[in-house]
Parts: sequence; structure tokens; C-alpha cells
Amino acid sequence: MYDCAIIGTGAAGVSAALTLNALGKNFIWLGKADLSSKISSPEMIRNYPGLINVSGQQLKEAFLKQIQTLNIPITENRVTGVYALGDRFGILCNQQMYEAKTVILATGVEAVKPIAGELEFVGKGVSYCATCDGFLYKGKTIAVVCTSKQMEHEIEYLCTLAAKVYVFAIYKNAKISAANAQIINGMPKEIEGDKKVSCVTYLKGGESEKVEVDGVFMLKEAVTPSVLVSGLEMKDGQVVVDRNCHTNIDGLFAAGDCTGRPYQYAKAIGEGNISAHSVAEYLAKL
Ligand SMILES: Cc1cc2nc3c(=O)[nH]c(=O)nc-3n(C[C@H](O)[C@H](O)[C@H](O)COP(=O)(O)OP(=O)(O)OC[C@H]3O[C@@H](n4cnc5c(N)ncnc54)[C@H](O)[C@@H]3O)c2cc1C
Repeated sequence: MYDCAIIGTGAAGVSAALTLNALGKNFIWLGKADLSSKISSPEMIRNYPGLINVSGQQLKEAFLKQIQTLNIPITENRVTGVYALGDRFGILCNQQMYEAKTVILATGVEAVKPIAGELEFVGKGVSYCATCDGFLYKGKTIAVVCTSKQMEHEIEYLCTLAAKVYVFAIYKNAKISAANAQIINGMPKEIEGDKKVSCVTYLKGGESEKVEVDGVFMLKEAVTPSVLVSGLEMKDGQVVVDRNCHTNIDGLFAAGDCTGRPYQYAKAIGEGNISAHSVAEYLAKL
């Protein structure tokens, strides 16, 4: 049982991890060893206090050096669900479950917004976790919407279970070797159905087409926080927090781009720090 689970390895997650480490807390930090593509993408950062004209890549390397010097480990995993279990949280990553007394959500903003019908059919044919839910579609027809080549192995896994897999790859050079996979050259537009998912419509050359499916897997690097955490209060796509980064769920905090604008390092790092202090205050009262 950890004191805290930090979800996300962007600027907010880095700041939360450095602060929890300084406060002597026992935490697990889930995300990517490479931190976040957003940290490294800016060609030049001109608004970060004390750093004059650094590139995103240089900032990332400085973050990595600091983390490594302090021996703060990153657990490489994508979180697919956070469950409030009374006095603790269960954090599900594929088939691995971690437990922590508190959680800091630092998941950034979604690069790919939910498509029409996606949120409506969560649990009714829409899933975010291949290893958790794949077996439900043994011998069935599914669609997979995938935003990163790094998740192709999850598509290959689904191909070992489903009879037919339509793949919407929202990245370049998609390559799936399974014979039952069909890459669709079109942008998914809407997930439709009645009580359960029945088809995905997509745009191909300006025309609307559809594939009939039993389920849809959304393999995205970041998913809507309210999908990750049931009952989480959101407004206009952002997690609602107070000045101390408390969400509406006791013991759950949020920091960085996921709590809203401005989408900037300074704000993400400030909130990462605040959320870690709020975690320490919360733990002291338990
Ligand atoms: C091209 C570009 C240029 C920019 N230039 C500037 C600039 O000059 N100045 C400035 O101040 N800001 C700039 N920004 C904005 C800045 O990069 C962001 O505000 C900052 O990175 C936000 O940090 P964050 O930690 O909130 O989110 P992110 O950096 O997006 O990190 C979120 C992390 O959470 C991880 N994650 C998400 N979901 C899950 C999950 N379910 N399980 C595990 N991990 C998960 C992601 O993989 C990622 O590692 C720029 C952004 C871009 C894209």
C-alpha cells in the first residue's frame, strides 16, 4: 500500500514526485520512462522563469537527470481505471492492480478528444483496456481506435481473441501482422448502437461509411479523467479542483493541464507541488 499514486509523468507529475520525495512519502509513479511527449516537443521555451531559451528536449533531459540523481523510479504503465475503495484507491493498469491511500491525477489534456458516442457507450461495448476486457470479445468482431504505434502490441493481443478486428490507426506507418486485422483508412466519426455498441461510422474520402462491431477498444495515451475515475467532477472537459488541487473525491487530487488553462509548464509544476503538499496534509489526518 503506497501513500500516493501519481498518474502521469509530465511536468505536473515530475513536480509532484520531487515534492513527495522531499516530504519522505512512499509513492508509486505511473507513466513513461521517457516522461511526456509534450515536455520535449517545444522547439524553444521562452516563458519559464530562470531558464533562458531552452528547448523542450533540454528541459526533459534536465528533469530526467534530477529524477535519476534522486533515485525516483517511474513504473512504466498506462492506468486504465482508478477505484475509490473507502480508505484507499485501487489503480488498475492492464491486469496489475496497485493500492494507494491517495492519488494525484497528472494526466495532461487529451490529444485526441472523445469521438461521438464514446463516453456514452463506456461499459456498453466501449473499453480502454485490451488485457482487462479482451476476453469478452472472444470470437467476435471489434474495432480498435489506436493513437500510438507503441500500443500496437495490444492490437495484436486483441487479434488473438476476436474473430475480426477493424483497426483505426491514428498515427503513421501502422503495421499489424495478424491475418484477421483490417486497417481502415478513415477517421472514426461516431460509435453507434442502442443498448450496446453496434457499429462505428467513419469518414473516407469525404464519404461516410460504417463497420458493424460488437465492441470498440479505444487505445489512447490519455483518456478522459472521468472515464478513469467514476464520479469525478468535470467541467468543460477539465477536472474541477480547488486552490489546493482537491477534487470532489476525498484523497484524490489533480494537477497540470488536466485541471484547465493556461496549458503551461509553470502552472503544471506549481500545481504538482501544491497537490503533493495537499497529499501530505491529507495523510497526516488519517
Ligand atoms: C508544441 C508545444 C509547445 C509548448 N510550448 C510551451 C512553452 O513554450 N511554454 C509553456 O509554458 N508551455 C508550453 N507547452 C505546454 C506544456 O508542454 C504543458 O503545459 C505541460 O507539459 C503540461 O504538463 P502536464 O504534466 O500537465 O501534462 P503532460 O505533459 O501532457 O503529461 C501528461 C502525462 O500523463 C501521462 N498519462 C496520461 N494518461 C495516463 C494514464 N492513463 N496512465 C499513465 N500515464 C498517463 C501522459 O503519457 C504524459 O506522460 C507546449 C506544449 C506543446 C504541445
